[in-house]
This record gives sequence, C-alpha cells and structure tokens, in this order.
Amino acid sequence: MLYFDHNASGPLSPAAREAWLEAQERFPANASSLHRPGQRAEAALEAARANLAAQLGGNAAGLVWTSGATEAAGAVFGHLAQEAGAGAEVWVSAVEHPCVFESAVRSFEGRVRRLPVSGGGVLDLGVLQAALSSGRPAAVAVMAASNETGVLQPWEAVQALCRAAGVPFVCDATQWIGRLPAGGLGGCDFVFGSGHKCGGPVGTGFLSVGASPFRLRPLLCGGPQEEGRRAGTQNVAGAVAFAAALADCAVRFDGIPERLEWRDCFEQELCRLLPGVRILGAGEERLWNTVAFLPPAFADCRQRWVVRLDAAGVAASSGSACASGKEKPSHVLEAMGVPPGDADRVLRLSGGWETAWGEWEEVARRIGEIFGRLRVADASKESKTRKKAP
Ligand code: PLP
Repeated sequence: MLYFDHNASGPLSPAAREAWLEAQERFPANASSLHRPGQRAEAALEAARANLAAQLGGNAAGLVWTSGATEAAGAVFGHLAQEAGAGAEVWVSAVEHPCVFESAVRSFEGRVRRLPVSGGGVLDLGVLQAALSSGRPAAVAVMAASNETGVLQPWEAVQALCRAAGVPFVCDATQWIGRLPAGGLGGCDFVFGSGHKCGGPVGTGFLSVGASPFRLRPLLCGGPQEEGRRAGTQNVAGAVAFAAALADCAVRFDGIPERLEWRDCFEQELCRLLPGVRILGAGEERLWNTVAFLPPAFADCRQRWVVRLDAAGVAASSGSACASGKEKPSHVLEAMGVPPGDADRVLRLSGGWETAWGEWEEVARRIGEIFGRLRVADASKESKTRKKAP
C-alpha cells in the first residue's frame, strides 16, 4: 500500500522507536516517585522537555506534556475562558482544526468569532488588524499549517499583531513541527502539537505556555505533576520518543527544497493527467508533504475517489482525519469558497520524510488510470443517453 496519509497519522520513526524501547527499559518508575529509579525517570523526562523546548526556541519551564494536540487545545481554551472577563470573545481562523474550534465553542459558548481566509486558504491579516484596533478578545487562535491543504499561515505576523495589542496568541503547530524548522514557535503565548504527526508515538503531545506570566489552569486535575498544570502519571518513554522523533526530523530540514520540487512536479503531472483539476492553495506557501486537489466531476460519482484510490493501493484522505467519514462538507473548504457539491471530491495526499519520489510518481500514475476509467464510463453513459433521446 502506498501510504499518503501522514497528516492523519504516521509510522513511528526508527529513532523514536529506539528511544522509546530504551526509555521503557531504563526508566520504568513513576517520575514523581522520590526513590532513585523515580528520580532517573524524572531526569529523562526533563531532558526530553529541554530538548523539545530547544527545538521550539522556547522555555523548558513553560512546556507541559499532554496526550496530544486535542487535549492541549481543550486545556488552552478552558484556561482562557476562566481568565477572561464575562462576555469576552475569542477569535479563531476559519480553517482551524475541529479540536481548536470545538474547544473554543465549548469554553466560550456564543462568543467565538471566525476570522476569514482568502480563496487560497490564508488568513486575511488586514481583517485581523482592523478588528484588533477596535476590539480586545480573550485570545486569537491561528494555526501554523493546515492539516487539510498544507497552506502555511502567517503566524509570525499574527504573533506580532497580538503582542502589540496585548492579546494572547494561540498557535496550533501540529502539522508544522517536524516538517519545517520550529524555532520561534516557542515564543507564542500558547503553542501545541502531537507526537504521531512527526514520527513520535500516538498519545504524546505538548502544550507550551511560552513566556506567559500566568499559570495554566489544568484541564485534568488530581496530582501535582507538570507543576500543577496537568495531572496524571507522566508518559516518560512517550515524551523521550517524541523529542527523539522531532530531533530526527530536524536533521532532514536540508531536504526541504528537494521535497518542494517533488510536490510541484507531482502537481504538474496531476494537471497534465486531470485536465480541469484544481490544486487547493496553489500559489500560496504550503507544506512540502501535502497536496489537496479537486478532481473534475463525472456523472458516475457514486463511489468516492478515496475509496477508488484505496482499491488501487493508495491510502489517501478526503479531508482532515476528524472530518473523514462525515458527510458534512469540510468547513475549511467552505471557508476557501469550494462549493459544497464539489467538496466531497477533494482529495488530500500527505507524505512523510521516508516517502520517495518514485512513490509520488506511482500515485500520479494510479490516479491517471482511475481518471481514464471514469472518462470512458462517462463517455459510454453519455452516448447511451444520446441514443435513447428521441
Ligand atoms: N491540529 C491539527 C492541525 C491536526 O491536524 C490534528 C490532527 O489531525 C489535531 C490538531 C489533533 O491532533 P490529535 O488527534 O493528535 O490530538
């Protein structure tokens, strides 16, 4: 199977697997225990924290281990809602992942404002700037890179606008980390990510509260772990493996220009094979690993492209992992102006560092074959309809 669904989840990297197995063997104790095995586990956890903080260009003391990005988003908006004055709004980009949007809605009820994006899926900075000149929300949330299209958001500019306005900035960096250099993200008021998107284990994640002067009100309460910011026994081997996975990605960043070339060549091939195809976010800065596109429509649309691709040995996605299987069109595509009738044809292919150029070529070939079969079926249907016509 050609695996092109890394934005949903990817395999554990060899570096992370090795680190996980070693940590599991060497540090079996509870990191909160006072005996020496406990202290050794704590030291390993803190070394992983320092390692991750260095990669984010942030402060280790502000980094909280979580079970993933969803938990981190729930913690951030729960915290913000308790800190905010009654009636305060929270502003989120229209293309945020559901874990951000739904956490914001749950914590702020009817006080969530969506910030618009362009047809290319990029936040409209002018709208944000104008809004900040007259209003002061409890926070602004803009992701670093889109899980559905790979489009990069101008998070550094948003960070600067928020800082100037004295408004906390929340950045979901789940799809950015491990794919692009993360230095600078640690300076966001709140930034979070998930291990399994970049070669780490599922069930690991982090929330960095940057240089925020306040304590994080915990989502999970109980023990005093993570400086009282997240209760529960810490996942030492998971944290060690997550940090190792990210460090392993970082040594590959020199390969980004080549990967961007592969992505562009693949898209050119798609345009040649599928006349009329629309590449989502074309012309915008995007992740090197993600291609989202809208294939042309055919009369025979009973079977979705993603199912046809699966039968052809390609694992792809029709949108974000959380949206797949749902009939509702993706809110991201809607915000980008893709008509609801077209949205269910959109396909997302997302590779990983191990994905070879030959695999991209092979996927293009298989897509071309499916398209050819659909075109033949369409033409014969049309000629039958013509024959039946009086
Ligand atoms: N944010 C983004 C951009 C994502 O792509 C995802 C998962 O697809 C999440 C958050 C949630 O991550 P997790 O399911 O690991 O908590």
